Amino acid sequence: MEKQAQIGVAGLAVMGENLVLNMADKGFSVAVYNRTSAKVDAFLAGRGRGKSISGHQTVGSFVEALQRPRRIMLMLKAGPPVDSFIEQLLEYLDEGDIVIDGGNSHYLDTIRRDRELRERGLRFIGTGVSGGEEGALHGPSIMPGGERSAWPLVEPIFTAIAARAGDNEPCCAWMGGDGAGHFVKMVHNGIEYGDMQLIGESYQIMRQLLGLGCDQMQAIFADWNKADLSSYLIEITADILGYRDEDGVPVVDTILDAAGQKGTGKWTVVSALEQGITLSLISESVFARCISARVDDRRRAADILRGPELPFSGDRQQLVAALEQALYCAKIISYAQGFALLQNASQEYGWQLDFASIASIWRGGCIIRSVFLDHIADAYRQEAELENLLFAPYFSDRINKAQADLRTVVGIAAMHGVPVPCLSAALAYFDSLRSVRLPANLLQAQRDYFGAHTYERVDRPRGEFFHTDWTGSG
Ligand code: NAP
Repeated sequence: MEKQAQIGVAGLAVMGENLVLNMADKGFSVAVYNRTSAKVDAFLAGRGRGKSISGHQTVGSFVEALQRPRRIMLMLKAGPPVDSFIEQLLEYLDEGDIVIDGGNSHYLDTIRRDRELRERGLRFIGTGVSGGEEGALHGPSIMPGGERSAWPLVEPIFTAIAARAGDNEPCCAWMGGDGAGHFVKMVHNGIEYGDMQLIGESYQIMRQLLGLGCDQMQAIFADWNKADLSSYLIEITADILGYRDEDGVPVVDTILDAAGQKGTGKWTVVSALEQGITLSLISESVFARCISARVDDRRRAADILRGPELPFSGDRQQLVAALEQALYCAKIISYAQGFALLQNASQEYGWQLDFASIASIWRGGCIIRSVFLDHIADAYRQEAELENLLFAPYFSDRINKAQADLRTVVGIAAMHGVPVPCLSAALAYFDSLRSVRLPANLLQAQRDYFGAHTYERVDRPRGEFFHTDWTGSG
């Protein structure tokens, strides 16, 4: 009888194929299945040829090819396909078998699936896998959560295929119960949206306000990548700006400015709204993609709506230097908001997330990898219960020094009509957070005026509520 495989992977699109190759390269035997079976044949005849990979045309044969307890990883299109495939698996699985969902599933679906499979005596892991197709092949950042007892059986495989950070630590760690892994991955993607939009706004300022060409901007981003902002996204931005087509035209200039999105940014924002957590920067990054996609509206508005037509008359080098600091400031604020969401969700769902570990596994393999994450990991190692990243000495010190640059950049952009929604959101959050008095007293008065919603008083203990008869009408 053929030797049984250590793990099964269902779903041979880009992510699945690459993860299988990564597993096989690390010495694991893998059984593969895909709904459209021609893809199994094509894979085994092509990229999977000569490796410890067995292909299967039916779900039954796929499941029977696995060592017990079985480890079955799904790399399927998120949503109903995951449920329908699990349904197909059920008739073949035995108690204690492990189903791992490695797609971008919504964490509430993962919480439900974890419960449903546990009720059937099966073990479920919902895991975030970040790094795109390259990451899947060479080492992704992996964020598993779910049934804890399954982890020791999966950990050796995941640790072997994961990326390594600079200190050789694997970028893979257990996140927590049920939906923890997919929640952390969702917030990772939200942060990715924010990082990308902040880079986009910097590019827009350099292009629209300073009139810099792609080569000049490439040099600036390459320069930034040597210092505090060093990260995968800054690095690829420099590469993109330097890329020209066969006619010598920068390819970036030929791309329509209409951003796509697959939904994880929106999910992050919805979850922040539901939990009452300020996630203004990531929210603005999602809205920025929405307005970019409304190409016709923007073209029409450009003919009708007027803004300032001021040429920039300041010091250009100084503005580029301020922009670097402003970007760093805004990044601190975005991560502070993202980690505040993680912190709240951890309490709400009882996950006991380890924030130092999360920052640490994001340092390699994933799209938001950066040297910046080392400082976040340090901050949470020093104070695991830190209420806000901005309270960590490293970050409060950095932001106190750089906030003037953020103010300068946002002010100049506003005066010249350059849209910077995320940089502006960062500044508004910073100023709101450090305001001992916000105008919410007036807001409470309005609520009490029109709806008798009551208010607390500054001279009385919290929790005592008062109402005023504002119109004397009783
Ligand atoms: P995908 O396009 O999201 O999904 C395609 C795979 O799902 C194919 O194997 C397809 O089978 C299968 N599938 C679709 N509907 C099915 C159904 N009803 N029953 C059974 N199988 C079904 O593939 P992907 O881009 O490789 O992504 C896989 C997962 O990883 C997704 O959840 C994605 O969100 C996540 N992810 C993707 C990236 C990325 O960069 N692409 C990064 C991180 C995470 P057929 O061949 O038969 O259609």
